[in-house]
Amino acid sequence: MAKRILALFDVDGTLTVPRKTASKQTLDFLQELRKVVKVGIVGGSDLVKIQEQLGDNVLTAYDYVFSENGLVAHKGGEQIAVQSLKVHLGEDKLKRFINFVLHYIADLDIPIKRGTFIEFRNGMLNVSPIGRNCSQEERDAFEVFDKEAGVRPKMVEVLRKEFAEYNLTYSIGGQISFDVFPQGWDKTYCLRFVEGDFDEIHFFGDKTFPGGNDYEIFMSEKTVGHTVTSPADTEKQCTEAFLSQ
Ligand SMILES: [Mg+2]
Repeated sequence: MAKRILALFDVDGTLTVPRKTASKQTLDFLQELRKVVKVGIVGGSDLVKIQEQLGDNVLTAYDYVFSENGLVAHKGGEQIAVQSLKVHLGEDKLKRFINFVLHYIADLDIPIKRGTFIEFRNGMLNVSPIGRNCSQEERDAFEVFDKEAGVRPKMVEVLRKEFAEYNLTYSIGGQISFDVFPQGWDKTYCLRFVEGDFDEIHFFGDKTFPGGNDYEIFMSEKTVGHTVTSPADTEKQCTEAFLSQ
């Protein structure tokens, strides 16, 4: 019996240059690969963004497409699942959390504030003490200020204690904000849709270091992890793994 193998790919930095569209060479290669193994895509972005990067036909061009880490899951072109923060937490818990964050920011004494302190997304909240609609200059200044003042780490510690029973993960990234999402809503989320159906699940990603957005799925005992440095490297490593026997 042939092994049932799934090759799962991150998008940014793995199949495309970050934030750019995939090359014809990469897309052709993935179709060649599909003749030998099943191929899936798992990206942190929403489906619209993944379609911009990999093509409008992405849902039918691959066996699985997991956008937002699998909160939106497609198999063979059909949507098989959809999840959201709103449904997962429920309106009451969500409101309690948002109210607390807004009170906390209101009482925060920092040099400047602008607007949009919470951005509500399908699978996460993005919280910014200065407010997301600050200028680039203000953004740079806040980053410098926060390195000394530790506004974000302090706020995260308070939220962690106050909302311990919510089981949330806090991720400080970028210059002015941090993300909040349920524990396990990283790329490992998508594995629930495939783990029973394959003997081997190979994952290819560029940010496999601790703190990187591929780290958890790369480290998962359910996957064979591969660290890549570019789309060309992805193609090279896949050829060695699947096409050169
Ligand atoms: Mg990446």
